[in-house]
Amino acid sequence: MEDEVRNVIIIGSGPAGYTAGLYTARALLEPLMFAGYMSGGQLMLTSDIENFPGYPEGIGGPEMMLQLREQSERFGLEVHDKNVERVDFSEQPFKVWVEGELFLSRSIIICTGAESIWLGAEGEEEQKGRGISTCATCDGAFFRDEEVLVIGGGDSAMEEATFLTRFASKVTIIHRRDVFKASKVMYERALNNPKIEIKTFKTIKKWLSDENGIIGAILQDSRDNSEEEISCTGAFIAIGHKPITKFLENQVETDESGYIIPNIHTMTSVPGIFAAGDVVDTRYRQAITAAGMGCQAAIDTEKWLEDQH
Ligand SMILES: Cc1cc2nc3c(=O)[nH]c(=O)nc-3n(C[C@H](O)[C@H](O)[C@H](O)COP(=O)(O)OP(=O)(O)OC[C@H]3O[C@@H](n4cnc5c(N)ncnc54)[C@H](O)[C@@H]3O)c2cc1C
Repeated sequence: MEDEVRNVIIIGSGPAGYTAGLYTARALLEPLMFAGYMSGGQLMLTSDIENFPGYPEGIGGPEMMLQLREQSERFGLEVHDKNVERVDFSEQPFKVWVEGELFLSRSIIICTGAESIWLGAEGEEEQKGRGISTCATCDGAFFRDEEVLVIGGGDSAMEEATFLTRFASKVTIIHRRDVFKASKVMYERALNNPKIEIKTFKTIKKWLSDENGIIGAILQDSRDNSEEEISCTGAFIAIGHKPITKFLENQVETDESGYIIPNIHTMTSVPGIFAAGDVVDTRYRQAITAAGMGCQAAIDTEKWLEDQH
């Protein structure tokens, strides 16, 4: 156990975590970060980021995350590449257990992000980032004049499909039922778009690929198990995201999906516990918005700590 009580512990090392680290370090709060099982966060999975301001030629995800880390470490952020297992936010100082060791802190910033839900179809693991994506805003522009699939039946699937028609020559929505969770207006917008075809009662049985990435998929009919082949060079899985909040054991208020609900600005239902990035964000889920929230959480933390004196 560490006797020292830190000013702030940051949990998670995506764009939100590093930006919170940069701001709290520059505010001389001597922040401590636990970077987690996936140091650098979701962008470690992507090769090209073209929409983060400041990189006119674009930048690789891992390279950008390394730069964010270097920048915040330069001002004194202490980073441990370890996972937080358990927390106790019931009293001050807050308790954080990391690989069996206990750390204490006056405030915490949770930046643990969210995971996209994947289908788990045959051939998917190998083709992640090689044609199969979970973010049309991020990767749509790579599929100019190509044929792509969108898998899902909710609002995000309809939104992603409509967005993708700006680039793709054809977008096929694949849905396992004929009932859509999407709102009527979103569904009808997709239905009436001449570039979109909707295939119902279909699931992805297997992804087909060659040395350059995916070239199609085998679809299976959920009514009679019959199969058909469809060609595409891109596919967007839009069946949801899962925020990483299980380790918090309901100690801060979340919605029914597990997203943290902000109470005052970035502060959660527990005074002194703040949250930023995809772990609170059901809408934007971008590196720049996560970084922006990381900045907000750092400033809120700094002011809250000041008010405690
Ligand atoms: C394939 C792909 C491509 C993308 N491309 C783009 C793009 O081009 N442009 C763009 O703007 N956005 C893109 N995004 C979205 C972007 O990655 C996210 O919006 C952003 O990373 C969210 O940042 P975050 O800091 O909230 O969390 P994340 O990046 O998800 O980071 C979460 C962090 O929390 C850590 N963590 C989790 N649990 C624990 C724990 N118990 N203890 C300690 N640490 C923990 C993880 O290790 C990780 O470091 C893409 C996403 C994906 C999946």
